[in-house]
Amino acid sequence: RGIYHYSKSASLDNPIKPPVTVQYDKLLINGQFVEAASGKTFPTLDPRSGEVIAHVSEGDLEDVNRAVASARKAFDEGPWPKMTAYERSKIMFRFADLIEKHNDEIAALETWDNGKPFEQSAKIEVPMLARLFRYYGGWADKIHGLTIRGDGPHHVQTLHEPIGVAGQIIPWNFPLLMFAWKVGPALACGNTVVLKTAEQTPLSALFVSKLLHEAGLPDGVLNVVSGFGPTAGAALCSHMDVDKLAFTGSTETGKLVLELAAKSNLKTVTLELGGKSPFIVCEDADVDKAVELAHFALFFNQGQCCCAGSRTFVHEKVYDEFVEKAKERALKRAVGDPFKAGMEQGPQIDGEQFKKILKYIKSGVESGATLEAGGDRFGTKGYYIQPTVFSNVKDDMLIAKDEIFGPVQTVLKFKELGEVIRRANNSPFGLAAGVFTQNLDTANTLTRALRAGTVWINCFDTFDAAIPFGGYKMSGIGREKGEYSLKNYLQVKAVVTALKDPAWL
Ligand code: NAD
Repeated sequence: RGIYHYSKSASLDNPIKPPVTVQYDKLLINGQFVEAASGKTFPTLDPRSGEVIAHVSEGDLEDVNRAVASARKAFDEGPWPKMTAYERSKIMFRFADLIEKHNDEIAALETWDNGKPFEQSAKIEVPMLARLFRYYGGWADKIHGLTIRGDGPHHVQTLHEPIGVAGQIIPWNFPLLMFAWKVGPALACGNTVVLKTAEQTPLSALFVSKLLHEAGLPDGVLNVVSGFGPTAGAALCSHMDVDKLAFTGSTETGKLVLELAAKSNLKTVTLELGGKSPFIVCEDADVDKAVELAHFALFFNQGQCCCAGSRTFVHEKVYDEFVEKAKERALKRAVGDPFKAGMEQGPQIDGEQFKKILKYIKSGVESGATLEAGGDRFGTKGYYIQPTVFSNVKDDMLIAKDEIFGPVQTVLKFKELGEVIRRANNSPFGLAAGVFTQNLDTANTLTRALRAGTVWINCFDTFDAAIPFGGYKMSGIGREKGEYSLKNYLQVKAVVTALKDPAWL
């Protein structure tokens, strides 16, 4: 695609100038970009250097009130739920076309604000954003209820109605994909939205929301409030005029969100939370392939994935070879300026995550795990961390229990299938699991025994629009993507009509 300026002189001390400028830095309320009521702004930072990219309007309670009022009006008075489903879907399709037209500009903004490799943004995430909106646009006119046979002389039907105003709170690790997972199904079902982006990554959602209006979205249907969790986020969760909440982020914050919803108007809540997903390499594995897939499962997106394969369980028969090769692979990982061609890993999102990850690495060393690769910051500027591999990890070590959310692979040894099932399930999380085997019986046994919302067999991070995603246990409530996600944004009304002299019952 070629807009990143590959530069031989690019070094971490001299970050490449992003080929994009920031056009939108205000709140989007009722179709207009407006200042925060308080006039306050906050800086969003370049994770390559910690330097300010832009000062963005900082929404809080008063802005959330304005945004919810605008979404409420667009829902109660129309036009959104009153438009035909086909008209709504056409707007979503036009939006997907505009995303493709602006692919590289959107990708550059995402990389600048988040630090992920530009090639990942441009070739995977922006195209996926377009794909998701086409997927949900396709659903808009296929949502329908049932006709039901009751016991008496009644005509019984169900109407699948939009819920109303959806409050949506998203994290910083996949700002655009989280936008699509949340906004896509809400709009397809005829709801209106107030979206609170993560304070670390407010830019790409503002840009694409502008495109959505260019595609024909009426004012007030989607409102975007940049700002912080305890102010803007909490105000959205507590708002009496918000009918539904969808949240992605940490389990700790998810509990707060649920509590605020319960204490206000009992709005329905879906949560996508943390994980500590097992990736199980069985004894029959082709070790080279297993190493590559396990590496991808953990290191993708700088290790900042809720479903990262962050407990690599390896059968004792292939363990030593696996560890040696996992170490080699990590040492070869291309870390550097995410705007440079061929980079696999950029910086972590911010100083807080950077420090937290280094603390976990220290704890791994102190608890007696063997540091095979990495273990420190990468370079001297920004938030880069060396791809790190620990072997001889034990289940009770902190690095095997907590979500590190960074490029730190922990390799654990197992002997038997029953043992690895028990150990893999011994976690408060249950988001995903990976299984690497050629044995059909082993795969089937593990698939059914693992307590996780997704089991990937001989693949990982396969995120097609139609595949549902969500957590067991403390990894969340509900499913996003796929047909299942529509349920989150619809409610069912039973309509019972008395029949006079029916010809049949
Ligand atoms: P977080 O859960 O605090 O933030 C996620 C979103 O929630 C952000 O938009 C934030 O502003 C908002 N938020 C924070 N406090 C809130 C509140 N009281 N009420 C309403 N909204 C609130 O996550 P974080 O602090 O950015 O990261 C901490 C850890 O969370 C990470 O280290 C990682 O382990 C985990 N995390 C998980 C995911 C995921 O996809 N599951 C994403 C990001 C972070």
